[in-house]
Amino acid sequence: MKSQDIRSTFLNFFKNKQHSIVPSAPMVLKDDPTLMFVNSGMAPFKEYFLGNAQPKNSRIADSQKCLRVSGKHNDLEEVGYDTYHHTLFEMLGNWSFGDYFKKEAIAWAWELLVDVYGIDKDILYVTVFEGNAEDNLPMDQEAFDLWKSFISEDRILMGNKKDNFWEMGEQGPCGPCSEIHVDIRSAEEKAAVDGKTLVNMDHPQVVEIWNLVFMQYNRKANGSLEPLPQKHIDTGMGFERLCMVLQGVQSNYDTDVFTPIIREIETISEKPYGNNEDVDVAIRVISDHVRAVAFSIADGQLPSNTGAGYVIRRILRRAIRYSFTFLDQKEPFIYRLVDVLSKKMGDAFPELKSQKQLIENVIKEEEQSFLRTLDQGLVLLNRVVEESNSKIISGEKVFELYDTFGFPIDLTALILREKGLELNEEGFHLEMKKQKDRSRAASEMSTEDWTILMEDDVQEFIGYDFLETNVKITRYRKV
Ligand code: ATP
Ligand code: MG
Ligand code: MG
Ligand code: MG
Repeated sequence: MKSQDIRSTFLNFFKNKQHSIVPSAPMVLKDDPTLMFVNSGMAPFKEYFLGNAQPKNSRIADSQKCLRVSGKHNDLEEVGYDTYHHTLFEMLGNWSFGDYFKKEAIAWAWELLVDVYGIDKDILYVTVFEGNAEDNLPMDQEAFDLWKSFISEDRILMGNKKDNFWEMGEQGPCGPCSEIHVDIRSAEEKAAVDGKTLVNMDHPQVVEIWNLVFMQYNRKANGSLEPLPQKHIDTGMGFERLCMVLQGVQSNYDTDVFTPIIREIETISEKPYGNNEDVDVAIRVISDHVRAVAFSIADGQLPSNTGAGYVIRRILRRAIRYSFTFLDQKEPFIYRLVDVLSKKMGDAFPELKSQKQLIENVIKEEEQSFLRTLDQGLVLLNRVVEESNSKIISGEKVFELYDTFGFPIDLTALILREKGLELNEEGFHLEMKKQKDRSRAASEMSTEDWTILMEDDVQEFIGYDFLETNVKITRYRKV
């Protein structure tokens, strides 16, 4: 099944269960001070769960673009090294706002995975909340009993508060959850261990695909829980992981979500995927990061030096450095992947098509500007490493790389890690603070606004202004 069909099958399934299908909300949030990017499917519906707004339909389903690169969910370091954590990914979700609850959520998840998508139930595991003494909560017997009618008991595992109890924040709606995991080992791998089908959930090839959250409590300011008058369902399934399972492969990068991008990288760089671990990591990282950056730009978030813009710049510079070092790309090249990305995903996300030219231009310019200093920066970094007799590189050097060569600190950390070294993060932040103090001192001297100056005060001409009476005022910046 092609990824497009996997997505539309999900949406149609829930449409047939009376859900309104809505487009993905923008990933970049402009007016939520608590969150920079949408990092889960429920984020755009927060106000419904808090009871501050009322949805038109109490059942909604969608595929939401999510970015997990900062804050509570930061998967950046995993990307490229494992095969199922991305920066940007799609989260398929279905919601009930005070409508259906556990019974339907569990039955429909099972129906979709097993009956509709045809996943072999012998590769599935589910988890159930084991309870928590501190909160005086019993295990989620209700969920356990519901699951029992679909799956054998030895495949229902207990999970603790960390994994199986979801909370919006310190206060507010919360509740137990059930996760669905898939054992993606091949038949040969299973045969090699005596055909054993049951494995430990910590096994790297047992991958979480779907999380069903049952919001049934409200956490009060004093920390205690009370039952919610209206119970809600919030589910999230990783689209790329689902594609991996349904396409019978063991890596998200081997699904048709990624293969067209990877083929393009191979063609341009003349480096094949699958022959060399360093190259493979680089190819995975680049194919992941180009999606994150392209989707962000399409949403209006350009790379910059502050806030969300700096997050995007960091991701892109990281990708540039991987392509420079491991794919020998000394010229801008990541922008050339946007065409295939927009062809592949433009139907589901039309903003990729309509903004394609802008996305390409912005990425290309970023590449050009970072490539101008990357080489010298790497030379300096190598020298620092050679000359250093400590395993920890000083904050001053890391700051110099940041300030002069545009190396974000996480990029420097990454390169050092490859060499078995670390950096002094505190020292870096100290240098950063010193620089801020210096520029603050400088700007305080010139905070006085534009002024009409005496001839001998004139420093820098900055333009003309016109009063309503059409009197021209010449303005100068006072330094
Ligand atoms: P994991 O334990 O694998 O990090 P999670 O528990 O953090 O996943 P949830 O917050 O429960 O994930 O999100 C719901 C679903 O979204 C997950 O079951 C998974 O399929 C998918 N998902 C989560 N993080 C990522 C990611 N970084 N890349 C791709 N899919 C993801
Ligand atoms: Mg996670
Ligand atoms: Mg998890
Ligand atoms: Mg989870």
